[in-house]
Amino acid sequence: MRIGIDLGGTKIEGIVLDGSRELARLRIDTPRDDYDATLAALVALITNLQQTAGAAATIGIGIPGTIATTGLVKNANSTWLIGRPLQHDLAARLGRNVRIANDANCFAMSEATDGAAIGADVVFGVIVGTGTGAGIIVRGQVLAGANGIAGEWGHNALPWPDDGERPGPPCYCGKSGCIETFLSGPGLTADHERRTGVQMLPREIASAADRGDRAAVATMERYEHRMAKALASVINVLDPDVIVLGGGMSNIDRLYGNIPRLWSQWVFAATGSAPDLRTRLVRARHGDASGVRGAAWLWEASEA
Ligand SMILES: [Zn+2]
Repeated sequence: MRIGIDLGGTKIEGIVLDGSRELARLRIDTPRDDYDATLAALVALITNLQQTAGAAATIGIGIPGTIATTGLVKNANSTWLIGRPLQHDLAARLGRNVRIANDANCFAMSEATDGAAIGADVVFGVIVGTGTGAGIIVRGQVLAGANGIAGEWGHNALPWPDDGERPGPPCYCGKSGCIETFLSGPGLTADHERRTGVQMLPREIASAADRGDRAAVATMERYEHRMAKALASVINVLDPDVIVLGGGMSNIDRLYGNIPRLWSQWVFAATGSAPDLRTRLVRARHGDASGVRGAAWLWEASEA
């Protein structure tokens, strides 16, 4: 039995998995801006799930950030967690070890274990929604990286930029032209507004494009070229078998056909040869549930 927890900025969700089967699911509000209350809420939620799972169940937690080598949380947009020994404090209160990983890594783990990338050796699991993050799974294991930031492609610069894409929009990280400023949902909305003066949600732009609206079609084509360039640079480094898309933008159907048709323009190949790429671009199977499921899968079968 495995317990998986997704600690989000507004909700904490928890599940009990028996193999791939979900036995229980609970959801509570996150006590924002209060570390001690967040800790107490996590302990209460896990204790509740243990009534279904039993006290021996493994516990995995996905957080919007990572645990630094110091054992303290870093890079969390839930800023009240930053600098706190979350893993240590939870283990002390629960009386058992817990594993904590970045939420994008949990997403990728879920899809690699029993989702859209099942059976693939190397998986790049992308979340494109309000932000742009990713996790890397190699043969069933999270590749966390020496600094805990493996997969953070959203804050690389958009590769092979056109003149109109330089220097690019300012990013909250302090740089300009980050991939996230183009590919996130707010990035797509802002790009459409810069060209048309009209503010629309990503799904409204996508459905206007489906109806043949010329400005929306042009916006979607710019978006697809940018995602193709950004993913081509990932293919050149990681060469994954499968790229899984999750988050709000993953619901746009046209991406799955158009982007793989475009990305070979930027994937390395000797001059004149068209690369015959095996990398597949697929939509997440578990949707919003990937976070909690992947957290549960942080423990291997031999340990659960
Ligand atoms: Zn940035």
